[in-house]
Amino acid sequence: MSAAIPKGILGYARYKLKQISYSKESIEVNVELERDSRHNHLCSVCNQKASPERRKERTVKDLLFHGWKTFTKVEYYEVRCKQCGIRVEHIPFIRPCARATKRLEQAVAWLCQHLPLTVVALYFSLNWKTVKNIDKAYLEHRFEAPGLDNITVIGIDEVSYRKGHKYLTCVFDLNDPHLIWVGPGKNKETLSKFFEQLGKERGKRIKAVAIDMSKAYIEGVKEHCPNALIVHDKFHILQDFNKVMDRIRIDEFKKADEEYKGFFKRTKWLLVMNPLRLKEDGKMRLSQLLNINMPLNTAYTWGEQLKQLWECVTVAQFNKALD
Ligand SMILES: [Zn+2]
Repeated sequence: MSAAIPKGILGYARYKLKQISYSKESIEVNVELERDSRHNHLCSVCNQKASPERRKERTVKDLLFHGWKTFTKVEYYEVRCKQCGIRVEHIPFIRPCARATKRLEQAVAWLCQHLPLTVVALYFSLNWKTVKNIDKAYLEHRFEAPGLDNITVIGIDEVSYRKGHKYLTCVFDLNDPHLIWVGPGKNKETLSKFFEQLGKERGKRIKAVAIDMSKAYIEGVKEHCPNALIVHDKFHILQDFNKVMDRIRIDEFKKADEEYKGFFKRTKWLLVMNPLRLKEDGKMRLSQLLNINMPLNTAYTWGEQLKQLWECVTVAQFNKALD
């Protein structure tokens, strides 16, 4: 019995099947295609008619066909386009220079949203770098790079990954809050790459930059955004204040008489948490600790006053409160 598989299912538009061979040993199907000469050659960049220059061949990976690994060999031409110059011709089911068919790339990109790259690579028997490139091309196509033209207020922060061993620097547009740039690392050089992309003129238009107190970021901002105010946000300042608080707690614990040491136990978070969110037991232990230790009591009061600064709505109010 023999029957032909309908062309619409194979999905090789503008091409004709030349030959199909298979190997039982390697569970592999090899499909060979030839151009259907009734169709014009089209430029892969602008999709306009172009004249053929040189015949070429390429073998790309395709989706599994009934469980068989599938490779598709296509002939195509290098073409001369009036607008774009020398390019490769448009193949409807393969992106220019890709190593896989579009349908395989779509399957890879979809799975990458749900599984680690390495698992996707294993499933399709692809090199993980190929999977990474497919995913990257898909994401670039799906999410255009955000424009940098109208930004005036930005926030810069770092995030860690690989259990805190590696860092990314993230830049946000704070007027219309969204992420606009990400680069590996957290030093001045990383940030310079963002500012290079931003350019001098747009850099001058930045009015304010919210950053933590890292010297690297401050230097970078001063150099590239000469008109920007540097703003340290509440979260970062309190984070630093909390470190001071903990240092005092440890020092005071060491100095404390034996009979008072018990009051310090499990108080690290009580000292930095919002007091309104403490439970009864927490409130009681905190108040006992602050009653027996004057330095911690003073630091705690200052901390509460520090938080109040962000309630001020004018610079004058803020300066008065700071004094
Ligand atoms: Zn063209």
